[in-house]
Amino acid sequence: MAPNASCVLCGAADSWRHALLECNLTKCVWALENENIIEFLGQLHCSDARAWLAEVMSSLKQEEITPVVVRLWAIWFARRKAIHENQFQSPFSIHAFVERFIGELEKINQGSPEVRLVAAAVSRWVRPPSGLAKINVDAAMSENSG
Ligand SMILES: [Zn+2]
Repeated sequence: MAPNASCVLCGAADSWRHALLECNLTKCVWALENENIIEFLGQLHCSDARAWLAEVMSSLKQEEITPVVVRLWAIWFARRKAIHENQFQSPFSIHAFVERFIGELEKINQGSPEVRLVAAAVSRWVRPPSGLAKINVDAAMSENSG
């Protein structure tokens, strides 16, 4: 439990709206979203989070809802990491995560063969489809830090 009602990240009065829409970190993440979506979200003044989300889902098109919901999730996750684990992500890295995640969702929806192979959750080596190469790695590198 928080010892007071202030946002741990910026000191302003905390609420669901502050955490997901109005905190400085959050505003920077939303600034990287489509301007029409930002304008629409700014016009909604529901005090109840559930009513706010219902309004968002009933007003936007499906292709607009997904980025909003994924961004809300990514913002919430980044705030939890910052507050509870002292691990801070830049607004750009949160935005990059959202874009990458949505890209992966689109590939899954299109039935991309590379995603189907990854999503298959196999426990043994599987030959790639004809015409494709498969590289198995156990390391990774960050584009951000080089
Ligand atoms: Zn804040």
